[in-house]
Amino acid sequence: MKKCLNCGKENKNENQFCSTCGGTTFEAPYSTDEPAPAPAPAPQPYQQPQTPPPPVMMGPPPVIKKPFTLFDVLTILGFVSSLVGLVQIWVVLEPLALVSSVLGFFKGNRSKGLAAAGIVIAVIAFIIRLFMTLYNNNVIGRWAIEGAFK
Ligand SMILES: [Zn+2]
Repeated sequence: MKKCLNCGKENKNENQFCSTCGGTTFEAPYSTDEPAPAPAPAPQPYQQPQTPPPPVMMGPPPVIKKPFTLFDVLTILGFVSSLVGLVQIWVVLEPLALVSSVLGFFKGNRSKGLAAAGIVIAVIAFIIRLFMTLYNNNVIGRWAIEGAFK
């Protein structure tokens, strides 16, 4: 189709004259076909996420060992001291065990359980030995340990 420049009427392409006004000037002919739709973009192939797939689990993950530090030595020292302090110079060893175990527990990389055990043993042993000693030296009365010791 082409549009008459004189009257604006649509005319067939083959028309020499406008069928309405007889004019001879037309705009450039154009197709009445629907303009071809823009070709749809080719579907993108499914993109694998760039993150690497999780590794296949082959047994438990390797245990990354943290370095053995001075505080881990303190953990062991504290635990041993707490045990030795049960029978030897508790007044020195149990406080030492408590400090060592606490340091080992919070700063060490290994043996948290051992450090916790050292703390518990040291505290309990110190309290028990303290009360027993106070009682034996008549600093506190029997009432203070009544029920705990016979
Ligand atoms: Zn016309």
